[in-house]
Amino acid sequence: MTSAAVPIELRRGRQNRPPQHLADLDQGARRAAVQELGEPGFRADQLSRHYFARLTDDPEEMTDLPAGLRGDLVAALLPPLLTVQRELQCDGGTTRKTLWQALDGALVESVLMRYTDRVTMCVSSQAGCGMACPFCATGQAGLTRNLSAAEIVTQVFAGARAMARGQVPGGRGRVSNVVFMGMGEPLANYASVLTAVRRITDPAPAGLGISQRAVTVSTVGLVPAIKRLTGEGLSVRLAVSLHAPDDELRDELVPVNRRWKVAEVLDAAWGYAAATGRRVSIEYAMIRDINDHAWRADRLASLLAGRLAHVNLIPLNPTPGSRWTASDPGVAAEFQDRLASRGIPVTVRDTRGTQIDGACGQLAATAAR
Ligand code: SAH
Repeated sequence: MTSAAVPIELRRGRQNRPPQHLADLDQGARRAAVQELGEPGFRADQLSRHYFARLTDDPEEMTDLPAGLRGDLVAALLPPLLTVQRELQCDGGTTRKTLWQALDGALVESVLMRYTDRVTMCVSSQAGCGMACPFCATGQAGLTRNLSAAEIVTQVFAGARAMARGQVPGGRGRVSNVVFMGMGEPLANYASVLTAVRRITDPAPAGLGISQRAVTVSTVGLVPAIKRLTGEGLSVRLAVSLHAPDDELRDELVPVNRRWKVAEVLDAAWGYAAATGRRVSIEYAMIRDINDHAWRADRLASLLAGRLAHVNLIPLNPTPGSRWTASDPGVAAEFQDRLASRGIPVTVRDTRGTQIDGACGQLAATAAR
């Protein structure tokens, strides 16, 4: 096909594609890429150790590589994909949100949260999101584009490096957990997210060496993609953003429900639980007078009874211009009690980062804010 025959949107798509990066490639492909540059394959292993084990992308620090070569290798395989546009902190510096700008100008955000027993990176999988959930800030602006695997891994890398360098109050440490709960619908960017999951969890120096069990992929409920994920042989946690036990309300809160109904989404989730032995996390944003009724708690309990599931209640983080607000604490407590009394494991998600618009559903990534 001549370039004139390529539809304009495809050409634009190609233009926007970020350059190739070590984190997009498995170890075989890294060696091939280095050989294409006329260098022996073992240089790829050296680069991998620097990036994934030593957490550096600075050619000056790569003293085992010939000085004349470092700059070229780094330019070819470790191009800077995201640059820090802004960083906001709260909780004494243990919660930090980073606004990143990609090479084409696309903006995304990630959040690092340090707790006493773990450090969680919340990453974006897309710039914007196409799922249009009306209570979520990201959903309001629509989808800009998918991120590449390396653009996702870069967010985790930055957190891991800050921890390794002791730049987060509390001393040196590691990123222990990764949640795909930033901007975007991870299962709508399936290939890149899967590659990113592998790079994040492959043992160093193939990847960052974070446990698969400590990675959570959160989805609105794209049923075919959940089924595909079930077949990958991974042990990552699946989170399903349910938010309503009935199709009538869920059609409104999570519009993709018009395509895949509550029963189908949960069926796919139970298939995932059966294949992996992992409890599925059911996400439920508590929205005042919208989805927090006692009868909905009971309906939810019936759907989940006897299943390998756990409910995560999230007090709604109101987004600008939204007509909705968080449930009354008493009502939320009753909702929780009703689930617990039916034997459903239930916890309330902490709302870290609210002050810096870094909590669930607040990531909007506008440079103007
Ligand atoms: N697209 C994926 C992952 C990103 S959102 C998904 O929907 O699961 C991560 C979680 O935050 C989801 O459960 C989402 O429904 C929830 N969320 C979005 N907006 C929120 C808000 N304003 N308050 C509380 N939780 C919100």
